[in-house]
Amino acid sequence: MKARERFLKVLAGEAVERPPVLAASSTATLEQMDRAGASFPQAHRDADLMARLASEALALGLEGVGVPFCQTVELEVLGCEIDFGSDRSAIPGVAKTFPGFAAAAEVRVPENLLKKGRIPVVLRALVLLKERHGDVPVIGHVRGPFSVASRLKGLDKMVMMMLEDPQKVTEFVEATSAVTVEYAGAMFDHGADAVTIEEMAAAGNILGPDLFQQFVVPSLTEVIKGLKGPAILHICGSSENILEGMVSTGAKVLSIDRKTDAKRAKEIVKGRAALMGNIDAARTLGYEGPEAVRRETLEALEAGLNIIAPGCLLSPITSSESIRAMVEAVVGYGK
Ligand SMILES: [Zn+2]
Repeated sequence: MKARERFLKVLAGEAVERPPVLAASSTATLEQMDRAGASFPQAHRDADLMARLASEALALGLEGVGVPFCQTVELEVLGCEIDFGSDRSAIPGVAKTFPGFAAAAEVRVPENLLKKGRIPVVLRALVLLKERHGDVPVIGHVRGPFSVASRLKGLDKMVMMMLEDPQKVTEFVEATSAVTVEYAGAMFDHGADAVTIEEMAAAGNILGPDLFQQFVVPSLTEVIKGLKGPAILHICGSSENILEGMVSTGAKVLSIDRKTDAKRAKEIVKGRAALMGNIDAARTLGYEGPEAVRRETLEALEAGLNIIAPGCLLSPITSSESIRAMVEAVVGYGK
């Protein structure tokens, strides 16, 4: 069975002989940069380099490709200065001097959004990936409205504002939702089979279920309802206490991290969405080596996760050997 078909069957809740193995967010590593001849930071800004680097995931046996590799595209179009770092393993962030926005009114979604910043680069890279790899799922990565808003305001200030002036939090999240809707929507027009919404600032251990329900679920539900294709909702950290809320957004896939117990997640979700994860990206894939990766992958398979994947974006230092160990454990499962 072709990888794209297997992935879409899982999303439709149909039976497959084994789970797909891919990633919800960035797969770019230093070893892949060498092979692709495409490195950070240039690969964040050039569609051809971006597509070439993303394609290297397939050489390691991963069954999907996705772009971009960072979480700053939306922040850049909303006016933040981005620090791309100078070395090949740096993950772009907002320049350190960023003071945060005082009010939601400062958040201005530019006209012709799809032509701004690196959005055209990402959309072009999706087109190239679709042309080159039509039989694997092509996945676009966006940042969720709450995470964008929290970065613009500052997460600490955002949490404070939830208690002191909740209406203002809602205004911030509504403002940033407009970007997610248009950008994620365009990804489907440019070849994406699914879009991952990375809502990492909304982790269950940061917000808890009530604040998650109040400030995160409404915007995600709106965004997901408006999309032409399936959404993968990625929230790292511990998300057991917000899984109900995650299901209620309508996301077809919930991407969970190692800190969320896979068996427990299956019990809570009860088949209402596919569960994806949860191999520890930073520690196990990043440092511990193939044997530990294999053990953790078997645990995820035994727990019944529907798609096996890193629990978060891969660190650039992750070895190809470790990624292959995850893939081989899945492909060989039950044989
Ligand atoms: Zn993550």
